[in-house]
Amino acid sequence: MSKKTFSFISLGCAKNLVDSEEIIGGLQKQGYRLNTEIDGSAFVIINTCAFLESARLEALKTIKEMGKIKSSKDSQLEKIIVLGCIAQYYDEREMKERVPEVDLVVPISKNHTIPLLVEKMFFPKKDLKGYTLQKNRFLSRPPHSVYIKISDGCNNKCSYCLIPSLRGRLRSKSIEDILDEVRAVQKLGAKEINLIAQDTTAYGLDLYGKYMIVTLLERLCAVKGFEWIRLLYTHPAHITDDLLKTIQQEPRICNYVDLPIQHISNKILRLMGRNTSKEEIIALYGKMRESIPGIVLRTTVMVGYPGEGDQEFDELLCFLDKYPFERLGAFSFSAEKGTAAFEQDQKVDLETSSQRLKKVMEKQKSISRNCNRCLLGKEERVLIDSFAHNRKKAYGRLSSQAPEVDGRVIINHISGVSPGDFLQVKITGTGSYDLIGRSLKQTRKV
Ligand code: SF4
Repeated sequence: MSKKTFSFISLGCAKNLVDSEEIIGGLQKQGYRLNTEIDGSAFVIINTCAFLESARLEALKTIKEMGKIKSSKDSQLEKIIVLGCIAQYYDEREMKERVPEVDLVVPISKNHTIPLLVEKMFFPKKDLKGYTLQKNRFLSRPPHSVYIKISDGCNNKCSYCLIPSLRGRLRSKSIEDILDEVRAVQKLGAKEINLIAQDTTAYGLDLYGKYMIVTLLERLCAVKGFEWIRLLYTHPAHITDDLLKTIQQEPRICNYVDLPIQHISNKILRLMGRNTSKEEIIALYGKMRESIPGIVLRTTVMVGYPGEGDQEFDELLCFLDKYPFERLGAFSFSAEKGTAAFEQDQKVDLETSSQRLKKVMEKQKSISRNCNRCLLGKEERVLIDSFAHNRKKAYGRLSSQAPEVDGRVIINHISGVSPGDFLQVKITGTGSYDLIGRSLKQTRKV
């Protein structure tokens, strides 16, 4: 019986993308063929995000579009499978009330069983005793830069966040499993390993009873063949001296830390349930700058949180001036039903919130521009990611630029290099976020 063709839509964050790639890999191992087009596919899987209202609306819109295709005349689309965070937010009955064409809603805890569920769906009479699920990671993006998800769920209780109720408590992967995954993607050409989780600094607390991110990093540094290890999604309350020492001592660990602080006012940090204070964040900031020379810091802040008055907002602006972050993402608070913050009063009106967001991003633009100007004329090592259509222009990143969220280096008049190559570049121009580089020579073609 020939296996079916399927297509896959992966919405949401990089953690979802990793889940999607593992599921695709597992299905391919069972002989199912991935199709980039919905057209001609027997089934479609939609991995969703639901932690904000806007994400839920996007997920429902996408699922409804698939429903229309499935019920259209001569459609070959037989089945629609929904998973990810919206499968936690709505159970099967609630999802089918919204989109009757949906065939299967799979909770996150069952993601690894999807090849078996698909087999049962298409071959209900088949004896599936002894059916083995095989781990396999399909890389949906150029293999030189890969996300490695080291845990799922979160034990922190930030009052604005739905993730703990959607993805459950912290579940770390074992160090051995992570090393196997990294060795596998290294063989596929990975040069950069981006470690992700809800809170990477809490890694291991559930499985080993203590923080194990340092041990994991040390073990990863013993794996040969890739060059950059990047730590994303840390939590200021869980950064240890040991971790800073390891980042400083291990040359393959990028001198780059993603450190979401969310706010700086003690009043707001308390209301957010961030388990840290202004004083602790400032002390940590100083320690990181001192202990890791040249470190590049990324953060995330939220404006418009209930109770944030002009005073608290000004405190945040002053802090970002005095303690600048080279990289910063900012969001407006979104009141999500099911979170503690949803019930909090003193809501900030949308207009004020968006004005504050604008101010933070204007400030960050000038901070980022000044940071970039310091690189003018410098020689830097660049990882090539992609090319412009005419292939005469390449896009790459410094080790201080994370994929997808930070600026990049644009290199004109380039030839003879490929994604995944490292290039020595002279910075000849700087923008607010991006840099312009001129190729000096190819430092290494692995
Ligand atoms: S650390 Fe806070 S914001 Fe991040 S996933 Fe956990 S609860 Fe949500």
